[in-house]
Amino acid sequence: MLKSSGVKIVATLGPAINTEEKIEELIKSGASMFRVNSSHSTPEEHKKSIDMVRAVAKKLDTHSAVLLDLQGPKIRVGELEAPIEIKENEIILLQHADKQSDGIIPVDYEGIAKDVNANDKIYLDDGKLELKVISTDGTTVKAKVIRGGLLKPRKGLNLPGRTASLSAITSKDIEYIKRALEWNVDYIALSFVRTGEDILKAKHAMEMYGGYIPIIAKIEKPEALDNFDDIIKLADGVMVARGDLGIEISAEKVPAVQKRLIKESNIHNKVIIVATQMLETMIEQPIPTRAETSDVANAILDGADAIMLSGETSVGKYPVEAVKMMTKISENLEENGIIRHNYYSRKMEKFDNHEAFAMCQAMISMLENLPIKAIIAYTTNGYTPALLSKAKPSVPIYALCKQTSVCRQLNLCRDVIPVHYDWLQEISKQSIAEVNKLILKQLGLKNGDKVILTGVVPYIPGQTTNFIKLHTVSE
Ligand code: ATP
Ligand code: MG
Ligand code: MG
Repeated sequence: MLKSSGVKIVATLGPAINTEEKIEELIKSGASMFRVNSSHSTPEEHKKSIDMVRAVAKKLDTHSAVLLDLQGPKIRVGELEAPIEIKENEIILLQHADKQSDGIIPVDYEGIAKDVNANDKIYLDDGKLELKVISTDGTTVKAKVIRGGLLKPRKGLNLPGRTASLSAITSKDIEYIKRALEWNVDYIALSFVRTGEDILKAKHAMEMYGGYIPIIAKIEKPEALDNFDDIIKLADGVMVARGDLGIEISAEKVPAVQKRLIKESNIHNKVIIVATQMLETMIEQPIPTRAETSDVANAILDGADAIMLSGETSVGKYPVEAVKMMTKISENLEENGIIRHNYYSRKMEKFDNHEAFAMCQAMISMLENLPIKAIIAYTTNGYTPALLSKAKPSVPIYALCKQTSVCRQLNLCRDVIPVHYDWLQEISKQSIAEVNKLILKQLGLKNGDKVILTGVVPYIPGQTTNFIKLHTVSE
């Protein structure tokens, strides 16, 4: 079995890693979840990639998860004949269209020439290029280039503060929600979430199709920060989507927001991912900048469950090296003992599930006082292992799950190692003996090691954890 404790790594699928061999290399290098971006490529291609991830995970006997990222109301440049070099002070034209014609840059949003006013800023490609609107006639926008560069097809376009009329969940998103359920993906991500209501809309859509997939809210709009208290309660997880966030609220505000979102997500027992430009130079270069390695380390120290690679793995030249680099940064922090372990935020004392929290607190404090090697949690829906993970225990949490879908979901939680195990009976003398065998055979622990076993005794579905055993592994 592949070990994947510590911080988790999310790799975005794309042409650079679209073979089983590459996916295998990435998993072996430490990737535990793959992200499919519905913005690029076709549903047929997405399905093919997901099938590949599933096949490789099966072969490697691991539980790689799949996240389907819904495009949301993201405005994009259309197809270009070739990348266009746009220069500072140049005047360019933009129009709602699929393809480039007469040198006018196509944009996939019909409101483009209606929503903007003179002097508005338009940002392209996660803000790398910047334009200023000179005028619009309702069909064509005339703009001056403030910051030039190479414009490639299908790049994102931002109109900060000018897209309030766009619906948070587009008809394309609804189609993809249906596919997500058909494809049995493990998480969906909602882009440009603004309110709790947006999360409810996605939940209703899933209800309509008769299924449920945990929802990750991508935080990339100022409105989402204003409404974060509602969003965090309704979403199953959060992503600090720093690309668009950096344009919508400006780049210098991103670090403080990242810290706030990580802290709040951990307090609310929600999974938290930090994304975008983590090792950006590795798209082209084999070695990251020191600022990038520090950024990865700081996201881990801030308390993220997972760190994500986008262009680095989807279209980059060094996808495997990028994943390996993240793994090495995480290992180095562990070796230096500077991660804050065995710790719950004080604010969690008000946590609504008192019993489960008290049980987890007890286990976490046992780690401080005894040389315990692992926590082994019998789980049905993954709740207790996920909650334990929020304390960042200094030991792995092996989650024994009956369902492979729960294994895959838990694969995003920091320090959790999901194990598919059909514990049919109650926790009894006999079943503990069975688990003891599993520990010796599969989990790499030795005779005499102390572990915590936890679960529900007697077993009642829906009951939260009520049992803790200090167990000494024996042959
Ligand atoms: P988002 O806002 O959802 O992050 P994005 O366009 O920034 O969308 P990423 O998944 O972050 O997309 O990837 C970064 C870049 O890598 C993209 O802008 C695109 O140029 C390229 N890319 C990603 N996935 C693919 C793909 N499947 N096919 C082609 N290019 C891709
Ligand atoms: Mg991106
Ligand atoms: Mg984005």
